[in-house]
Amino acid sequence: MDDILSVNGLTVSFDGFKALDSLDFSVRQDELRVVIGPNGAGKTTLLDLICGKTKPDSGSINFKDQDVTGMIEYQITRAGIGRKFQTPSIYQDLTVHENLEISYPEKRSVFGSLFFKSSAELVEKINGVAEQIFLTDELDSKAGVLSHGQKQWLEIGLLLMQDPELLLLDEPVAGMSAKERESTADLLRSVSKGRSVILIEHDMAFVEKIAQTVTVLHQGQRLAEGSMQHVQNDQRVIDVYLGD
Ligand code: ADP
Ligand code: MG
Repeated sequence: MDDILSVNGLTVSFDGFKALDSLDFSVRQDELRVVIGPNGAGKTTLLDLICGKTKPDSGSINFKDQDVTGMIEYQITRAGIGRKFQTPSIYQDLTVHENLEISYPEKRSVFGSLFFKSSAELVEKINGVAEQIFLTDELDSKAGVLSHGQKQWLEIGLLLMQDPELLLLDEPVAGMSAKERESTADLLRSVSKGRSVILIEHDMAFVEKIAQTVTVLHQGQRLAEGSMQHVQNDQRVIDVYLGD
């Protein structure tokens, strides 16, 4: 079986309210999965649980046949899961180049001593990621002067420096211009080559552009799943989300 992520019976409550309710959910290797659903459906909570920010009450999360349920955040990052939050956590006073550089993971030898990353390898990686996130011309600019959309791309770039096998993105195009959304669709297509991506998104026009398989969450459960066309024609999805 080629599921990279498998979530089984995942449940978490906040003050007695079940934000996720026995959720089963899985994502295949190299898949770009879009998760949609009404406000409060549990979408962000699902990402919080996968990346270890929140602990489940019950259920399990398996990543590459490893049980990551209850692991702490840095262990999950190290296992290969990268999470982008809604507010970018870039260093405003550092340049784009410096932001990317400090995100490059340290390598340690088997004896635990730090060995130097070859500077050629690092520069090549930074240039490759900068090109992918459309910031080649901004490498020497301070991150603080970037547009809102460029900051979102930079944060995706910081994650790409670590080469995660599964990337979690929470509404990355919120607040972007139409042109930035276009570019972000291209970026997501290139980013999802050779890795899995879970994308939470509200903008249905954007979802339509990139979606392969869509999962609809509602009240902490999976309401529907399938192609865009399939979920768009599902009466229950229309009732709780797509219909006005
Ligand atoms: P979505 O991202 O689908 O809009 P969320 O996952 O953010 O929904 O929230 C699902 C529900 O869980 C909401 O009712 C929200 O208020 C609640 N919730 C989420 N995180 C917390 C938390 N840390 N503490 C208390 N309630 C929370
Ligand atoms: Mg949310």
